[in-house]
Amino acid sequence: MKYTYLDFKSDFPNDAACLARIMELRYGNEPICAKCGKSTHFYPIAGRRAFSCQWCGHHVYPCVGTPFEKSSTPLTLWFHAMYLMTSTRNGVSAKELERQLGVTYKCAWRMGHEIRKLMGERNKLNGPLSGHIEADETYVGGRAKGAGHHGPKTGDKTVVFGMLQREGQVKAEVVTDVKRRSLRPIIEKNVLPGSTISTDELRSYAVLSSHGYQHGTVNHSGNNWVNGIHHTNGMENFWKHLKGGIRSTHIHVSRKHLQNYVEEFSFRFNNRKEPGTMFYRMLSHLARRQTEAG
Ligand SMILES: [Zn+2]
Repeated sequence: MKYTYLDFKSDFPNDAACLARIMELRYGNEPICAKCGKSTHFYPIAGRRAFSCQWCGHHVYPCVGTPFEKSSTPLTLWFHAMYLMTSTRNGVSAKELERQLGVTYKCAWRMGHEIRKLMGERNKLNGPLSGHIEADETYVGGRAKGAGHHGPKTGDKTVVFGMLQREGQVKAEVVTDVKRRSLRPIIEKNVLPGSTISTDELRSYAVLSSHGYQHGTVNHSGNNWVNGIHHTNGMENFWKHLKGGIRSTHIHVSRKHLQNYVEEFSFRFNNRKEPGTMFYRMLSHLARRQTEAG
C-alpha cells in the first residue's frame, strides 16, 4: 500500500485537520475530560492549538511535548516535512525542505533534525534482535588521509557499528572505535543471548561465542564473502544505502549529527515492508510521546 502525496493532501488540507488528528491520536474517539471526569467532546479553540471540554470548558493542548509545541511554523508544513522524510528513499536535505515548504533554511534545518529525533525515538521502541544477526562496522565521511587543513589530520572518518536481524530490524550507532570494550556492550544490549551472529574477522568479535552467542565469521580480507550461513551482505547493503544517501542528499554530515541521520535511514529501513504506514507510525509516536510528557 502506498500513501501518495494526494492521499496526504486530502487527509491534511489545513492546520485544523492536522491538529484534529493529533488530538484524536492522543485522546481517542471517546475522550474523557481530566477535569470533570465526563465523557466529552472537545471543541477546537479558534486561533490556538487547543481544545475545550464541552461540559466544563477545561482546555487541553495536544501539541505539548511535541516539536510543534513551541514552533510557530504551521502544522501543515511540519506534516509536509514528515511526509517527505518518510516517503523518499534517501530523505530530503534542509535545502530541499526550504524550497518545498517556503521556510527559511534555518527553520528547515531545525525541522529536519526534530523529525530525525522522533525517528530515533521510534527506533528505540523496537525490541532486541534475535535469530540470525549480521554485525558490521563502517566508516562514514571525513577526508582522505592528509587532505584538508582543518580538523584532525588523519582518520577523521566516523565509525558506525550496526546489527541487522535477517528479514528484520537494523540497529546502528556511532561509536568512538571498534575495540572490543566498545562493541561488546552494544551487542549485549541489543541482541538476545542464544542468537546467531555473523561478522567479519575483526578481533573484537572473537569473544562473542564465549558470551552466549553462536558466532560465525567471513574472511573479508581473504575475499571470502560467504561462509556457509554466514555473511554480512544485508548489513553491507544498509551501509551502502546510508553512505550513498548521505552523499547524494546531504553532501556532508558532521560527526556530531551523524547519529541523527543513521536513525533516519534505520527508521525507513525498519519500515521498508510497509512504506505506506511510515507517516502514520511517526504520528502515532508523537501521540505516545505527548502522553508520556503530559
Ligand atoms: Zn470537562
